[in-house]
Amino acid sequence: MDNPTYIILLGAPGAGKGTQAEMLRERVGLAHISSGDLFRENVSKQTPLGKLAKSYMDKGELVPDDVTIQMVMDRIARPDCARGVVFDGFPRTEAQAKALDDALAKEGKRIGAVLLVSVRDELLIQRLTARWVCPTDGAVYNLLSNPPKVAGRCDRDGSPLEQRNDDKPDTVRRRLAVYSTQTQPLIEYYRAAGLLREIDGERDIEKVQLDVVKAVETL
Ligand code: AMP
Repeated sequence: MDNPTYIILLGAPGAGKGTQAEMLRERVGLAHISSGDLFRENVSKQTPLGKLAKSYMDKGELVPDDVTIQMVMDRIARPDCARGVVFDGFPRTEAQAKALDDALAKEGKRIGAVLLVSVRDELLIQRLTARWVCPTDGAVYNLLSNPPKVAGRCDRDGSPLEQRNDDKPDTVRRRLAVYSTQTQPLIEYYRAAGLLREIDGERDIEKVQLDVVKAVETL
């Protein structure tokens, strides 16, 4: 890969974007940019951006475009992005998608592919409300498909597991509604640009992974 590769993973919360993006980072050497993780880092460090973001995140709403775009642009400028990036959770609005296109175009670069990971709402709700995370090392468990060995404890360091505030049932429903009104229009935006590839995200992680790698390797 000579030119940097820019891949977007598009899909609802709980579709498995984070898992697939992490795999692409390890196997293909792309930097993994998760806007949700960047916001959570700011929340835990209690920065002014974190305080602002938290007020939206706790309700399942999107953080305003201007601060989100600025945060991601600062991240793209870091040296580990030189080989390319897999975007996870960004862009989520048309304004964000256009800002990303413009920023890349200014440097003579463009998005290589947009992989739409599709999962039905019933399954997304099941996955998100069963997700528990280790506050110490960030390990993610799913009580249905990937439970910890000892109930409520992290396998690696024994910390008590926590549920993300926004994985509680009411907020999950709000996040899915926000996805359908604000983010789903991006499917047509990228289809029109000839960049969209659809991947069935309801299968095992390994099968989804094969399709994701194939899509990236055939760019
Ligand atoms: P995620 O971990 O991707 O589900 O993101 C968690 C929360 O962070 C979202 O529900 C939003 O409140 C916020 N967030 C993450 N990415 C974005 C984005 N691209 N635009 C606006 N808000 C975002």
